[in-house]
Amino acid sequence: MKIFIKTYGCQMNERDSEAIGAQFLAAGHVLTPSEDDADVLLFNTCSVRDAAERKAKGKIGYLKKLKDRRPDVLLGAVGCMAQRLGDRLLEELPHLDFVVGTGQLHRIVAIVKEIAQKRNRQSFTEESRDVLVGMGEHAPDGGAFGQIAITRGCNRFCTYCIVPYVRGREISRDQRDIVDEAKKMVDHGVREILLLGQNVAAYGLNGDTRPPADDVSPFGELLEKLNEIDGLARIRYTSPYVTYFSDRLIEALKNCSKVCHNIHLPLQSGSDRVLKAMNRQYTAASYLHYVDKLRAAIDDVTFSTDVIVGFPDETEEDFQMTRDLMNRVGYSQSFIFKYSPRPGAKSALRPDSVPESVKEERNQILLGDLSARVEKMLQKQIGDTVEVLTEGVSHRNEARWTGRTGTNFVVHFEPVPGLKVGELKTVKIERAGGVSLFGSIVK
Ligand code: SF4
Repeated sequence: MKIFIKTYGCQMNERDSEAIGAQFLAAGHVLTPSEDDADVLLFNTCSVRDAAERKAKGKIGYLKKLKDRRPDVLLGAVGCMAQRLGDRLLEELPHLDFVVGTGQLHRIVAIVKEIAQKRNRQSFTEESRDVLVGMGEHAPDGGAFGQIAITRGCNRFCTYCIVPYVRGREISRDQRDIVDEAKKMVDHGVREILLLGQNVAAYGLNGDTRPPADDVSPFGELLEKLNEIDGLARIRYTSPYVTYFSDRLIEALKNCSKVCHNIHLPLQSGSDRVLKAMNRQYTAASYLHYVDKLRAAIDDVTFSTDVIVGFPDETEEDFQMTRDLMNRVGYSQSFIFKYSPRPGAKSALRPDSVPESVKEERNQILLGDLSARVEKMLQKQIGDTVEVLTEGVSHRNEARWTGRTGTNFVVHFEPVPGLKVGELKTVKIERAGGVSLFGSIVK
């Protein structure tokens, strides 16, 4: 069969889609980038925001025409929205053939085969202990950048979030499996690996949500093992929850030369009152304490973050605390979300009390702060020499190449003869523009 896969949502979903594709390939099927050419169309859906659900439903709804034209084609919704809605999705979209939630993705090939034979509409959303099966499958494409999911699910139950309900409880993969997977990827040409998990720093802690003791960090140990792999140039990871940065983890980050010095550290709010209502188990002061410890250990570390504006009852004072804390940390990147209630999440039981216009105003203020701050950060680097991992020809200007520093700044530069994707190069920064740096390769 020819399988078409479209992915919505986060990097974890992208990684799931890659693993799903690899499982179909291993079973002798073919992947196709064309909807018209496919026998099976899979939509790997996201449920984190209402807009993401509407987008996937809209797309599947639109494909009714294709189904009318080619009734043999199978349409399937998989992933988080599939898990959340199950049979309801089959009722809502009468031309959808099947629904496979996150708990059953490891059986996707067998499920599709069964649906193709029996032609019965069905949803599969039971939770399973086997959710880790197939998570390590890759379809090597010769690329230099790869991703490994090291955990699945989440135990933290932040009140605005439905991840624990649609992706289940947190489970960590075996360290040896992850290291073997990384070695295989490097053998196939991968130079940078991004480790993924809802809370990567909780890796190996058996779902314990308490801050680990200062001499404990299975995640740090994993980084040390991966750091030893010959041929691997860089390791990134996303996202860690702040309270898991034990001394042991900070020590590992400091000592692992391949681990990038950019930490995506979700803040969500700078107000203790709002953090409590969100069930984020830190205060503004304790968050800053971890930031200061990380800065003291890794002097060029940069931080990025996620923030929610307009959480129920967020006052102007709460918002100012968020703004002040963001300016104090000095993030080089922030993803700012205007709060929207998600059915099934605890915060959805509270009135969505902050008007849209206020959410938008707060969003714009934080974006303004961010762009002024990033401009200064870029200007400061003019004249520096930085190490860049090459990513290929720039999307904006074919005469230039693009790469990224370990601190996650994008750098554009003129290529030298024989330059390859995935090479570490030293670039002298000559100017800054927009959100990027520009320079020349010196080594
Ligand atoms: S840590 Fe909180 S926000 Fe992140 S996935 Fe878990 S419940 Fe959701």
